[in-house]
Amino acid sequence: MTEAHTHGADDLCGAGLTLYVRALRVGRVSTDDTDEAPCLVGLGLLDPEPGNAPGRLRPVAPAATLGSESRAQLGYLIGQSGILDPPG
Ligand SMILES: [Zn+2]
Repeated sequence: MTEAHTHGADDLCGAGLTLYVRALRVGRVSTDDTDEAPCLVGLGLLDPEPGNAPGRLRPVAPAATLGSESRAQLGYLIGQSGILDPPG
């Protein structure tokens, strides 16, 4: 049993941010991955992937849901992850 994630979208936990950045980077995550960060689903940051993709979740655009502090934190993590860097 993991700890309760009672925080809001503007105060994402570390596990939530990490998984969310990974979801943004690869485009999807497995529902198994949300064991560590169930808050992402509860807060609407991850949605079930449409079509026949059971167990898959896709990230929802951050601007709509996150508060300014988490957006700044997320921006930092996204920058660190290199997903905005051109390929090659
Ligand atoms: Zn959380």
